[in-house]
Amino acid sequence: MPRKAVLFFFLLLSRGGLKTPATVMSLAEGKGQVPAGLELYLKEKRLSTFTQWPFVSDCSCTADRMAEAGFIHCPIENASDVAQCFICFKELEGWEPDDDPMEEHRKHSPNCAFLALQKDICDLTVEEFMKLRKERMKNLIEKEVKHTITEMEKYANLIRGKIDSCVHKLYTTACLWYSST
Ligand SMILES: [Zn+2]
Repeated sequence: MPRKAVLFFFLLLSRGGLKTPATVMSLAEGKGQVPAGLELYLKEKRLSTFTQWPFVSDCSCTADRMAEAGFIHCPIENASDVAQCFICFKELEGWEPDDDPMEEHRKHSPNCAFLALQKDICDLTVEEFMKLRKERMKNLIEKEVKHTITEMEKYANLIRGKIDSCVHKLYTTACLWYSST
């Protein structure tokens, strides 16, 4: 955990510890005090990623509602409407103007810990916040492992193809040599 994050949690604990319901953001009354790596827990920070979001005021999936539902905007070259949940890392694209961000989130990632929250993140106790953070880290590791496995499989298939091609060439050469003798 980054040093700033450790300090953040230390300060939180020093303001009442786990026995009292100190809220996570009680320390960061000025929200600028949230340390690096924890900004996305704030809706305002998620909303700030939607500067190029294609759906505006007349839609159900406005930037504000997307951020409220836990999404950040992460467009790629051929998909300008890719949004990702900052807790479960589920990526959704192909949004329609009438889509309800919270409903879509629930439909595609029903077990997301963000959706299970009963209150605003800023009102979570330290213990609740730590559980959410743990869940996020677990999801991040699973996503990275899955990505690595996919890349390894692609590479293995490439090598397997090359080996098969070599074996085929050797076999063909051997057959030609055998038939000529
Ligand atoms: Zn999620």
